[in-house]
Amino acid sequence: MRTLEVNGRRYRWMSDPLVVVCVDGCEYDYLTQAAAAGRTPYLAKLLREGSAFKGDCVVPSFTNPNNLSIVTGVPPAVHGICGNYFFDREAGAEVMMNDPKYLRTGTVLAAFAEAGAKVAVVTAKDKLRKLLGFRLKGICFSSEKAHEASLAENGIEEVVKLVGMPVPSVYSAELSEFVFAAGLKLMRSRRPDLMYLSTTDYIQHKYAPGSEGANAFYAMMDRYLGELDALGAVVALTADHGMNAKTRADGSPNVVYLQDAIDGWIGKERARVILPITDPYVVHHGALGSFATVYVEETQRRQVAARLAELEGIELVLANAEASRRFELPPDRMGDLVVVSTKHVVLGTSASRHDLSGLDAPLRSHGGISEQTVPLVFNRRTAGIPGKPRLRNFDVLDVALNHLESGAPR
Ligand SMILES: [Zn+2]
Repeated sequence: MRTLEVNGRRYRWMSDPLVVVCVDGCEYDYLTQAAAAGRTPYLAKLLREGSAFKGDCVVPSFTNPNNLSIVTGVPPAVHGICGNYFFDREAGAEVMMNDPKYLRTGTVLAAFAEAGAKVAVVTAKDKLRKLLGFRLKGICFSSEKAHEASLAENGIEEVVKLVGMPVPSVYSAELSEFVFAAGLKLMRSRRPDLMYLSTTDYIQHKYAPGSEGANAFYAMMDRYLGELDALGAVVALTADHGMNAKTRADGSPNVVYLQDAIDGWIGKERARVILPITDPYVVHHGALGSFATVYVEETQRRQVAARLAELEGIELVLANAEASRRFELPPDRMGDLVVVSTKHVVLGTSASRHDLSGLDAPLRSHGGISEQTVPLVFNRRTAGIPGKPRLRNFDVLDVALNHLESGAPR
């Protein structure tokens, strides 16, 4: 049997086309509640007769670190992407981490393509495209920039015509629907051996599991996944992270502003708070998540850590080395302290630096340990997963390629 080794893990060659879907912000309850409401007959069948597991995502439970873990099969300590945004110690500047130059290893997608598989990647937002498409000889484009796709850059052209849907707004459910519609058209027209579809969490930031807004989204997804299954594809679904309400009893955002607090203790410009959730698309979360990292001079470190730990809403404060070990993060890209807030609390820098005017619904967000549980759902039964007491979302390719029984469940 032909296999391929990538980043120290061995994968069997696919016998049927494999579609891995990363549903952004998919708390497990979204699946069960939409199924219970009768809105997702296909997913209900998978939960009942396929294989459905709960696993852990990477902390910080943000989009980019987890998407990269899923496609490389390893934690951020190995692939290097630990946020959307970081303080580059070498450059002495705060920068976005969405450039492939920050990737420290290749992807399973690129390795299969290199070995001769037909590979296609469709992502909702363009911010992920270059990372997911790192050294990939295949198709790779985003819904957001579908109209700009070219053979040279994306391995495909005339995407909008192929999909038959107008390019949606970056803040819409349709941005994710475009991903599924494109995936289905690609499966029908080119039948890729391996396809990776990654949505956006616009809906999950706005709507709680079981609400009409959420159920309608999953009903849409259900139709596409059912059609991919009918075409003979193995469907493997996971998520980059979960999602929780981050509000006080009155519905206002429940924020701890770390920079303001630390400045009050040790004075201004002695510490730098970095929020790795920061990206160019902040309207739906105001750059507020449950994970932060703090750069602070050594003499102040113990004091600041102790006082942070006493703040209401703080779950954990760890020094760099301990946090890097526990969460498998690259120490050189994290601050001196790592701060995680509790389930319904988010972390900000200074109140004056967060524009919350775009929040048109009570804040829901992610980033912490409280958003670590994610689904892993397959349309085939497993023959057992040996040696896996704790399943991770970045085991999805291993399970899909190495541990599924062939043939759909009867
Ligand atoms: Zn996400």
